[in-house]
Amino acid sequence: MQQFVWNAAPGRVVFGAGSLGGLAEEVARIGARRAVVLVTPTQARRGAAILASLGDRCAGVIATAAMHTPVEVTEAALAELRAMEGDCLVAMGGGSAIGLGKALALRTDLPQIAVPTTYAGSEMTMLLGQTERGEKHTVRSAKVLPEVVVYDVDLTLSMPPALTATSGLNAMAHAVEALYAVDANPVTSLMAEESLRLLARALPRCVAGDAAARSDALQGAFLAGVCLGAVSIALHHKICHVLGGSFGLPHAETHSVMLPHATGFNAPAAPDAMARVAQAIGAADAAQGLWDLASRIGAPMSLAALGLHESDLDRAAAIAVASPYPNPRPLTQAGIRALLGDAFAGRPPS
Ligand code: NAD
Repeated sequence: MQQFVWNAAPGRVVFGAGSLGGLAEEVARIGARRAVVLVTPTQARRGAAILASLGDRCAGVIATAAMHTPVEVTEAALAELRAMEGDCLVAMGGGSAIGLGKALALRTDLPQIAVPTTYAGSEMTMLLGQTERGEKHTVRSAKVLPEVVVYDVDLTLSMPPALTATSGLNAMAHAVEALYAVDANPVTSLMAEESLRLLARALPRCVAGDAAARSDALQGAFLAGVCLGAVSIALHHKICHVLGGSFGLPHAETHSVMLPHATGFNAPAAPDAMARVAQAIGAADAAQGLWDLASRIGAPMSLAALGLHESDLDRAAAIAVASPYPNPRPLTQAGIRALLGDAFAGRPPS
């Protein structure tokens, strides 16, 4: 008999094409009068457009969000936010912009509206990864969960094929790990399977320029984000965390490279989850199917291609096993080093 605990996170989700048009209403609904818009530097123009659309309910734009949420960027943004007397955070962008919103919410408890433009899924979680002095630490707090998430499919149309592929695989990684998580439950498993089904079919079409597939991809990413927020992460996310936080590798690309390898590593210890992954993505084998999908959509296939040095692998394996966490297959430094060796060289998952 299965035993489980399901904690539903509070929050309002508005999904659709053109739903950004309702942002001013969402800000008013929260009762905010001085929203501050957060974006990455490359999305500054979109930030300015939101500023204009919110009119006198918007106090300004902070366009300094950066990957892995460096604490010094947050501290500088906090000073700007205070100077603007902001009373609500509108984070628009990928996980970097949303990460800055969460880091500011943690420090101020201001309400957040997240407007995701990638498939990273951070908007649905109570997790915040912050980088300080070369190490990334995760905080879990209800304070960082956005009160409102506005998914506008139109905002994802500008994602180039490379970002579409890697961000989509980042989302799929949340769903794969949810299926074998120590605290997996029937609700997240249903969402994870549907997420994998939607993303596996939509991503090749999105990468080929088919705008009609974007809605399914974003819906899959939303479900994957809920999974990430609801269950414990395991080997795959921990390794990506180490590679991003301690070696500066880019987030979504690292997830793309590692996903087939982490899946292959855990396969012998989680046969039921693997069968569900394989079925959802329409493959005979979960790890090989994910590898084939990544290759088909043009994702990077090796850690070497992301700029990691072979001499970093031993240290990465050591950091990855330094603090224990639940994982279907027992973790050893040698096992992780072998897995990293395959991923570094771009060999198929073993
Ligand atoms: P990102 O937010 O850094 O975006 C990558 C680049 O793409 C940026 O230059 C951004 O401006 C640009 N971009 C974003 N949306 C675009 C669009 N629609 N069209 C064109 N360009 C676009 O990358 P990401 O992978 O979305 O997020 C990575 C960050 O999110 C990492 O810091 C990671 O740790 C964090 N994250 C956190 C969680 C969590 O639950 N805490 C979950 C997932 C990711």
